[in-house]
Amino acid sequence: MKRAIYPGSFDPVTLGHLDIIKRASAIFDELIVCVSVNSAKDNGLFTPEERTELIRKVTEDLPNVRVDCSRELVAEYAKRNRARVLVKGLRAVSDYEAEIQMAMVNAKLYPKLDTVFLYTRPKYAFLSSTVVKEMARYGAELSDFVPRQIIEQVRAKVAAAAGGI
Ligand code: ADP
Repeated sequence: MKRAIYPGSFDPVTLGHLDIIKRASAIFDELIVCVSVNSAKDNGLFTPEERTELIRKVTEDLPNVRVDCSRELVAEYAKRNRARVLVKGLRAVSDYEAEIQMAMVNAKLYPKLDTVFLYTRPKYAFLSSTVVKEMARYGAELSDFVPRQIIEQVRAKVAAAAGGI
């Protein structure tokens, strides 16, 4: 069975992430979407558990997708879950350098691990979790950015954070 892991911060999950999830789940037998918590980027808007729940909500209809959350190194997580493939999305050349470096580090830590890159659909090339949070802060329409099932939650969270609640 071909099991792959799609790691990221997903703060929150966007339509760009969901597109990669759908495409990867059609390629592999099982896809684990892993909210990967790393110390340098730990000051997210949503807690890792909230991000995990949001991804679960938008992937309910994908039977071979599992959602998890981890605080360990991605390579160790992959090894423990007996997965030999990491999936990453590429938006622009600017993503490439950091992603290649991470792929090499991960392969150093776990030599059986390969990283597979899926290019973004052009309509999502501009999209990141940072863009979503910025748009939500300004009250912009979010339906082109995040799955409709989570729009209200994203809006409420951004409003609460802005109000210091
Ligand atoms: P970001 O905070 O930049 O959205 P994440 O860590 O949440 O990044 O992203 C997880 C993975 O999804 C990374 O491999 C990233 O390159 C990819 N990704 C993020 N946004 C998109 C998008 N719009 N299209 C394709 N891949 C994406």
